[in-house]
Amino acid sequence: MKTIRDLQVTGKRVLVRCDFNVPLKDGEIRDDNRIVQALPTIKELIEKGAKVILMSHLGKVDHKDPIKLAEGLKKNTLAPVAVRLSELLKKEVTFSNDTRGENLTSLVNKMKDGDVLLIQNTRFEKGETKNDAELSRAWADLADAFVMDAFGSAHRAHASTYGVPEILKAEGKEVAVGYLVEKEVVNLSKVVECQERPYLAILGGFKVSDKIKVINSLLKKCDKILIGGAMAYTFVKALGGNVGTSPVEMDQLDYAREMFASGKILLPVDTICANDFDNPTEVKTVDTKEIPEGFEGLDIGPKTIELYKSEIAKAKTIFWNGPMGVFEKDAYQAGTIAVCKACAELKGKAFTVIGGGDSAAACKQFGYNNDFSHVSTGGGASLEMIENDGHLPGIDVIG
Ligand code: ADP
Ligand code: MG
Repeated sequence: MKTIRDLQVTGKRVLVRCDFNVPLKDGEIRDDNRIVQALPTIKELIEKGAKVILMSHLGKVDHKDPIKLAEGLKKNTLAPVAVRLSELLKKEVTFSNDTRGENLTSLVNKMKDGDVLLIQNTRFEKGETKNDAELSRAWADLADAFVMDAFGSAHRAHASTYGVPEILKAEGKEVAVGYLVEKEVVNLSKVVECQERPYLAILGGFKVSDKIKVINSLLKKCDKILIGGAMAYTFVKALGGNVGTSPVEMDQLDYAREMFASGKILLPVDTICANDFDNPTEVKTVDTKEIPEGFEGLDIGPKTIELYKSEIAKAKTIFWNGPMGVFEKDAYQAGTIAVCKACAELKGKAFTVIGGGDSAAACKQFGYNNDFSHVSTGGGASLEMIENDGHLPGIDVIG
């Protein structure tokens, strides 16, 4: 894999695909982690005297419905990212509101070595997610070299992640991955192919159906999988338990039984459940197989915490995706905190990885993010990398 260290960039226009898909609220950046993570690559290019042209997507833009399109264009502007990036770099960052055309070309032509330009949200272009050839061509024309540093988008073969490097490579121009992608690949490779056993996976979150492929793949790689979150109840139901009003995916029951038959899956033995999600009048701990009518499971219970802690303590490699409960609410965060803490206690003794947007957010919220060997910046991308045995289109195209 060619990395940014191998590139000759001085005086060249280097197009960098970043992942600036930051959470925004009323136009304010709520968490700038993704911008911070992109800095090593950007700083190096500035120092080496490249003309640094940055692009990224932000949020989702619906091009089919004109009202939603107008909303998406308003809500998902990258302008606040240019401001924040400029503060972090202590350097001017020019923002191009146009995603292609004369204005953008003229801004690029005016760039001096070491200058930084950020192009407006790639998804403002309808052709971005379709890997449109003409769009890829237009973006490729802006660049003498390309750096892929958007790990969180590497599982998508879009114009900015796939079409552009494909064209540039065919023209004999240099393409490479940046420091962020390199770090992700190096770390995630160790959970794609386990280096040290026992290898434990911890899976939670909402839906079994979202995670089918990764569960399948992990069953081949891991020694054991601990299940938590809402998806546990689909397993419990499939095995004949009573789950009350807990969310169950009825179309996944056969699949859940099949996976359980592997003998590698551990399910919660007890559950914290409540009689209402928003305004509960009763919250209690029950046997997971006997959740009463009218009650919904919202976190793993204390016995399960003890059981999972003892499994975690034995592991040498851990991959964790998906919170154990509704960690956004105080009453249902104990399970997720306990798993964070148990993994944190392995610091220096085991290789621990978190992949998944909400899981990473939970771990940060509870103050354990520095105790993991690696917290991936890509939710979907880290899962797909495991599913595809280490391959992602946006990284393979650089290769
Ligand atoms: P990640 O982003 O880490 O891959 P997911 O998106 O799959 O994780 O799932 C996270 C969501 O799952 C959280 O919003 C959390 O509230 C929810 N969740 C976890 N357990 C439950 C539960 N028992 N009932 C309802 N929602 C749950
Ligand atoms: Mg999520």
